[in-house]
Amino acid sequence: MTFAELGLSPEILRAIDEQGYSEPTPIQAKAIPLVLTGRDLLAAAQTGTGKTAAFMLPILERLKKFANPSASPAMHPVRALILSPTRELADQIGVNAKAYTRYLPIRCTTVFGGVNMDPQTQELRRGVEILIATPGRLLDHVGARTVALNKVDILVLDEADRMLDMGFIQDIRKILSMLPKSRQTLLFSATFANEIKRLAEEFMVDPQLVEV
Ligand code: AMP
Repeated sequence: MTFAELGLSPEILRAIDEQGYSEPTPIQAKAIPLVLTGRDLLAAAQTGTGKTAAFMLPILERLKKFANPSASPAMHPVRALILSPTRELADQIGVNAKAYTRYLPIRCTTVFGGVNMDPQTQELRRGVEILIATPGRLLDHVGARTVALNKVDILVLDEADRMLDMGFIQDIRKILSMLPKSRQTLLFSATFANEIKRLAEEFMVDPQLVEV
């Protein structure tokens, strides 16, 4: 199995080749074709399995149609929102996203708490298609009206079990209430505990299950 056989475009293949990835990991081989169909996905995968690329690469493929480098910031609304429990994980996802978007005119940025909001605000004002965020800081930016979520087509809840353990459920509910009802939702969790299943029943439509 190769990345090209999974249906990814040359710009994306070139970027992952430069990362030194020679073939998809099991979670990538299973999840990428599913995400490309637009369906919801409930995936059980630990860190280290390649789960970040498993959602990010097909998201880039799906967002390619919106790529327009010369458009004004207002023409770059957030299309994909990735929620992460910790700043370290958010930062790591952001670093990967930057590498994978190297040959695509798609912008991404990362916002998390514990640091000054101003540089994040400036980045958001430039317009980004992909936003990686921790829940609390995202709500701070929504409250300050530096970002709107009404054009989000794809939501990723990464390490959803940890987000619940860390007490983010109310923040997540608030964020979910701001998103379009018609969207694709991808949930990654180390386990399918009961709370995860309940979250999936509440916020996902007929999700496909993937375990590795
Ligand atoms: P993750 O599980 O997303 O945190 O990824 C773990 C590590 O594996 C990261 O350093 C990735 O850059 C790397 N990685 C992801 N996909 C592949 C792949 N297909 N081949 C080799 N390394 C990969």
